[in-house]
Amino acid sequence: MAKHYTFNPHTLSYEILGIPFKVRIYRIALSIALACTLSTIAIYVFSHFFETPRAALIKQRNEELQMKYDFLLNRFRQTDDELNELMHRDNKVYRSIFEADPIPLSVREAGMGGVKSYEKLLANAQTERAAKALILMDKIMKKVYIQSKSFDEIIEYVRDKEEMIFCIPSIQPINISNPKVRFSSSYGWRPDPFFKVQTFHHGLDFAGPIGTPIYAAGSGKVEKAEFNRGGYGNMVLIDHGFGYQTRYAHLSDIKVQKGEKVTRGQLIGLLGNTGGRSTGPHLHYEVLFKKQDVNPINFFTTDISEEEYNKIIKALKEEADAPAMEY
Ligand SMILES: [Zn+2]
Repeated sequence: MAKHYTFNPHTLSYEILGIPFKVRIYRIALSIALACTLSTIAIYVFSHFFETPRAALIKQRNEELQMKYDFLLNRFRQTDDELNELMHRDNKVYRSIFEADPIPLSVREAGMGGVKSYEKLLANAQTERAAKALILMDKIMKKVYIQSKSFDEIIEYVRDKEEMIFCIPSIQPINISNPKVRFSSSYGWRPDPFFKVQTFHHGLDFAGPIGTPIYAAGSGKVEKAEFNRGGYGNMVLIDHGFGYQTRYAHLSDIKVQKGEKVTRGQLIGLLGNTGGRSTGPHLHYEVLFKKQDVNPINFFTTDISEEEYNKIIKALKEEADAPAMEY
């Protein structure tokens, strides 16, 4: 700024005029404004190209944190893969062994729409990884819950299966190794011993001496132990549960009572010739599933050798050619 001069006619010289107050204020204000602008530019430039030690530390810590989240996310992914493998095995192996329906993937992954609650975290680059890890963790927790429920169910199936193995009729009700015992009539259509017309025989007949022991073919509860006027004579009916029942007819003596629990192989009566439809001493044995009679030959699984099985088949073939003698 140019200096102000004035001509003094007395001294005949130019003299410097004093700077007016307004101008001084203006100059100071200008200097401050300039200093502020320059320092702002300096700070901006500095912070852009150089870091303060504190900023550098925060940045470093942030990078470490992101790395830790990456590591965590990878571990969660591995866990999720292992869990998926377990779920697959559960459906294809464990559940199928026990005839349980597989749990569909839609159920195993149901209610996993938790992404919404992490939307804000996902949108931020700083928290995105943490949000992803949290979402995956939620997913894993849900799958683990469903899986543990499935295992609880399987434990129940195992318990039922163990009980079922003992209950289902699977041994012969009479000792067929006894030379005096023989198969005398098979299950199915045959000429009626009384009326000589084709009738359906609902069980198997074993001929033998009166008093031969008769055993429970499976564990269960005695439903009937009485004299049956319909033709069965002295009869025992055992309820084995799981839809199975067995009937033992024409007994000479009953060794159990109604309501009694019996175990497989327990003596329940003696072979006899009671009941109007018996034409000679024999046991009439029936297996019922859901109240419908089924062929008992299919249930002799636990105590029969191949030799014995062939003997039965041979006897049944011979019997098929000859007219039936017993009911
Ligand atoms: Zn019969």
